[in-house]
Amino acid sequence: MPLSAWYRCIRGCSGRHSVFDVIYRCPTCGGLLEVAHDTAALAERSGPEWRALFEQGLGTRDQGSGVWAKREWVLPQIRPENTITLGEGYTPLIHSPRLGRDLGVEDLWVKQCGVSHTGSFKDLGMTVLVSAVAQIIADGTGGVPPPVRAVACASTGDTSAALAAYAAAAGIPAIVFLPRGKITTAQLIQPISHGARVLALDTDFDGCMKIVKEVTQDNTIYLANSMNSLRVEGQKTVGVEIIQQLGWQVPDWIVLPSGNLGNVSALAKGLALAHELGVIDRVPRLVAAQAEAANPLYRAYLKGFERLEPVTAGPTAASAIRIGDPVSYEKAVVALRDFNGIVEQASEDELADAAALADRAGLYACPHTGVALAVAAKLARRGIIQGGQRVVVISTAHGLKFSEFKIGYHEGALADVIARRRNPPVELPADAGAVKAELDKWLRGVPARDD
Ligand SMILES: *Cc1c(COP(=O)(O)O)cnc(C)c1O
Ligand SMILES: [Zn+2]
Repeated sequence: MPLSAWYRCIRGCSGRHSVFDVIYRCPTCGGLLEVAHDTAALAERSGPEWRALFEQGLGTRDQGSGVWAKREWVLPQIRPENTITLGEGYTPLIHSPRLGRDLGVEDLWVKQCGVSHTGSFKDLGMTVLVSAVAQIIADGTGGVPPPVRAVACASTGDTSAALAAYAAAAGIPAIVFLPRGKITTAQLIQPISHGARVLALDTDFDGCMKIVKEVTQDNTIYLANSMNSLRVEGQKTVGVEIIQQLGWQVPDWIVLPSGNLGNVSALAKGLALAHELGVIDRVPRLVAAQAEAANPLYRAYLKGFERLEPVTAGPTAASAIRIGDPVSYEKAVVALRDFNGIVEQASEDELADAAALADRAGLYACPHTGVALAVAAKLARRGIIQGGQRVVVISTAHGLKFSEFKIGYHEGALADVIARRRNPPVELPADAGAVKAELDKWLRGVPARDD
C-alpha cells in the first residue's frame, strides 16, 4: 500500500483534508492543522530497518537532500519530478569542546543548520512546501478552481530568502512581505536576487503577517508561513538527523532559538515519530531559547502556559526571532510539555557574548544561535543541565548573513552590549619594523595553543 499523509486539526476536530488542498486552518474551530501520517503502515518497518534505510547515504533515493532522504516520514505522495530540492539538510554536527568549556557545558555539539543553501534552517521546510505547490500546480487541487498563481510569505528575513530561492528553482512566482529596515542587507538582497516581488512595509513582522493573511485569502496566492504545516514536515527531520549523526545516541538536551515557534514544534514532531517507530528508545529534553526583547513564550512558561499574551517585540540583534505574537504557540506548548521542556531567555549582552565566544572557538554564530548558546550556559550554571550531559545547540542561520551584528560588536556599537571580546583591526604604516614590533608585543600575550 502506498504511504500517505493528510491534514488534521491539532485540537482534535474530526475530518481529514488533503495536503494538496489550499487550507491552513481547521474549518471547524479555526485551529492550526498538522500533517498526520499513517503510522500503522510506517510501523511495518522496524526501528532498525528505518535506521538502515536512512543510513543509505547519498544516492538517487534522497535526491541529494537530507529531507527527502526521509521522504516516507515527510510527504510520501510527492512525486520525484515535483521534488524541488537545493540540497538541504545533511548539515554538519560539530563537537565543540573549547566553546563548551567557555560556556560551562561539558559535552556541547552544534548543529550547523545555517550551513545550507540559503544560509538558514528554513530550507528544510521550504523544499517540502514548494514541492507540494509544484504538485498542486501540476495536478490541480482536486479540480477546485481557482488555481494557485504564486506563493507568498511574511518574513523576518530567512523565510523569504528560502521561499524566493525554492520558488525560483521551481519557476513559481514568489511574493515576500518584509518589515522595512528590520532585516539584514544579506537577507534583503536574497529574495531580490531570486526575482521575488519584494514588498517592504512600514510595520514589524507581526504587521506583515496580518497583511499576508488577507492577501492569501482568495486561495490563488499560496501562504508559505509556518502556519502552513507542510514546512514543519521538512523541519522535523533535523532532530532525527542529529541523532543519526551521533550514531543513534540520543542527546540529553536540544536547545534552539525560538520565535514563531514552528521549529520547536517540528523538532518535537520528528522526535516523537522516531520514538513511536522504535528508531530511538528515549527522547531528549527540549529548551526553547528566546531573546529578552521578544519573549512571549517565556512569559507564558512562567505562568504554566496558562495563555499567550502577545507582546510588541522590541529591538534585538536576534532579528529573526523578533516576534511578539507567535503563530505556532499551541503546538509549541504541546511539544514542550511532551518533552519535559524549558523556556529561558537571554539579554542582548548575553547573546552577543555567547556568539563572540563561539566565533573565538572557530564557529561563526548568528545572534539567534547566540541566544541558544547563552541559554545553554545559563542552565548549566544553574545545574539544570548537568555535567556530563550531552547538549546539542541548533544553530539556525549562518553568521555571514549577520555582518552588521558582527561589525557592530567589534566596533563596540551594539545597544545594551558590553563587547568584551572586541577585536578591531590594527592600523599601521606599511613598515616592516613597526609591524614586527606590534606582532612581538601581541604574541608575548598569547599562548601557542590555548586548550
Ligand atoms: C525562523 C528563525 C528562527 C525561529 O524559528 P521559529 O520556527 O520561528 O521559532 C530562529 N533563528 C533563525 C535564524 C530563523 O531564521
Ligand atoms: Zn479544529
